[in-house]
Amino acid sequence: METKIRKIDKNRIDNAVIQEAGKVLREGGLVAFPTETVYGLGADALKEEAALKTYAAKGRPSDNPLIVHIADYEDLRKIAVNIPGETDILASHFWPGPLTMIFDKGEVVPYGTTGGLDTVAVRMPEDPVARELIRAAGGFVSAPSANTSGRPSPTTAEHVAEDLGGKIDMILDGGAVDIGLESTILDMTVSPPMILRPGAITAEMLEEVIGEVSVDETLLGDESEKAPKAPGMKYRHYAPRAKLVIAEGDLREEILAIRQLAYAAHREGRRVGIIATEETLPFYKYGNVKNIGTRENEKTIARNLYRVLREFDEEDVDTIYSESFAVQGMGKAIMNRLEKAAGHLRIAASAVVKQQRYRRITFVCGADTARAPMAAEILRHYELKQEYVIDSRGIVVLFPEPANQKAEAIMKSAQMTLEGHVSRGFEKENLQEDSLILTIDESQKNKLIAEYGQTENIFTLSEFVGSDTEIPDPYGKPLTAYGECFEILRGLIKKLAEKLDSLVEEEQ
Ligand code: AMP
Ligand code: MG
Repeated sequence: METKIRKIDKNRIDNAVIQEAGKVLREGGLVAFPTETVYGLGADALKEEAALKTYAAKGRPSDNPLIVHIADYEDLRKIAVNIPGETDILASHFWPGPLTMIFDKGEVVPYGTTGGLDTVAVRMPEDPVARELIRAAGGFVSAPSANTSGRPSPTTAEHVAEDLGGKIDMILDGGAVDIGLESTILDMTVSPPMILRPGAITAEMLEEVIGEVSVDETLLGDESEKAPKAPGMKYRHYAPRAKLVIAEGDLREEILAIRQLAYAAHREGRRVGIIATEETLPFYKYGNVKNIGTRENEKTIARNLYRVLREFDEEDVDTIYSESFAVQGMGKAIMNRLEKAAGHLRIAASAVVKQQRYRRITFVCGADTARAPMAAEILRHYELKQEYVIDSRGIVVLFPEPANQKAEAIMKSAQMTLEGHVSRGFEKENLQEDSLILTIDESQKNKLIAEYGQTENIFTLSEFVGSDTEIPDPYGKPLTAYGECFEILRGLIKKLAEKLDSLVEEEQ
């Protein structure tokens, strides 16, 4: 089947397009359209056959009911019965919007739409395209997410086309959605009402309006033995093709754990993906790292989650590691989807983070323009058993300078480079519990110890590797002096690499 794609601008809705799409729906066809949550796959909610077509296009199990979308509040009473008193006030606060409410179903609603249940889920979306389309279709449009069952929900028309192109009649392309996660589902047939799926409307927001609400216990934490009350929540969902693993712990530990896992994968020649945030992005060195949004505004994370999961499908990664997010407000919905996407695969960050005596290695020379940066760069070329942050500093750096040109010439002849290096002075923050400070000569070591009064982490390079070699200062001498210095450094760094790897063995 050819899938027609029609662009539509929600600020200037083209009525001809809406009428065309509405006609397809009235004739029993399928039209995907934007809503503020995710793209929906629309069908006439009052036609049994239309529901069957929906299940077939999505590959969705037919015991997984559809949400009926309406555009006018009066229409609720045409499809639902025994509507409790709190409904009016909830609707006045949250409709139109990302809240779905479940009621006893009216007779007009076919069992095809409700997956055989005697209840019906109803939502009034806010997106103007969605609302105009619902009206043009006759008022009742069932619309599950417009993806192949099990894949991440679609947040753009391109995502819909990826999954359903050729299987449905039409896609209305209204650009990227706003929220990016499916609606909150609230069961109104029990008292107090119960949240069956967390979303942008949080428990706190609902409680402010109607007092106590309960939460389906299967949504909380661990994989429960019990089946969730929303039939759809029992399936692995929103899942990318690669294995997704969530690191749990405090954020610093999560970052360390993911770094170690990514480094181990790199050494084994495997490619991994990393779900990071604006704030944590700079901490990752290995792996395919994607920014999912900022921790300062969880809405950005919600909006990007499915797109990021889909993007990983296009890339050659076998495992994706994700940081965790705070389970507050919208964070509950984010973690709920992420855990489902991961099939509840989690690792405790603290169990992964190896006890590592040193994590940062800083070489120190006088001006940070030749010997220390050379040593750092030589060490960076080793595939060590563990990952270290390696850099260099100077004792006296009056202003930032590039590397010495002769040092660079020598490095180039050994297929290395100091390009981009800028000299920096040693500062207090360079000395942390997990720092290994290696000075080029004795006088630099003594200066640091005099200033910081600390000896546990500060050594000369030769001393640390158990050698009595002195590293000559080539400054002001011809190129050959830099060459000799390089050879000496290379010998010492080789020993250093061996020593670092042997420390790892002792720890394990
Ligand atoms: P989707 O439309 O893809 O967002 O999925 C709809 C979700 O709503 C699924 O998890 C369904 O199981 C849930 N749902 C729809 N109708 C009902 C109902 N009558 N009772 C409980 N859950 C429902
Ligand atoms: Mg869905």
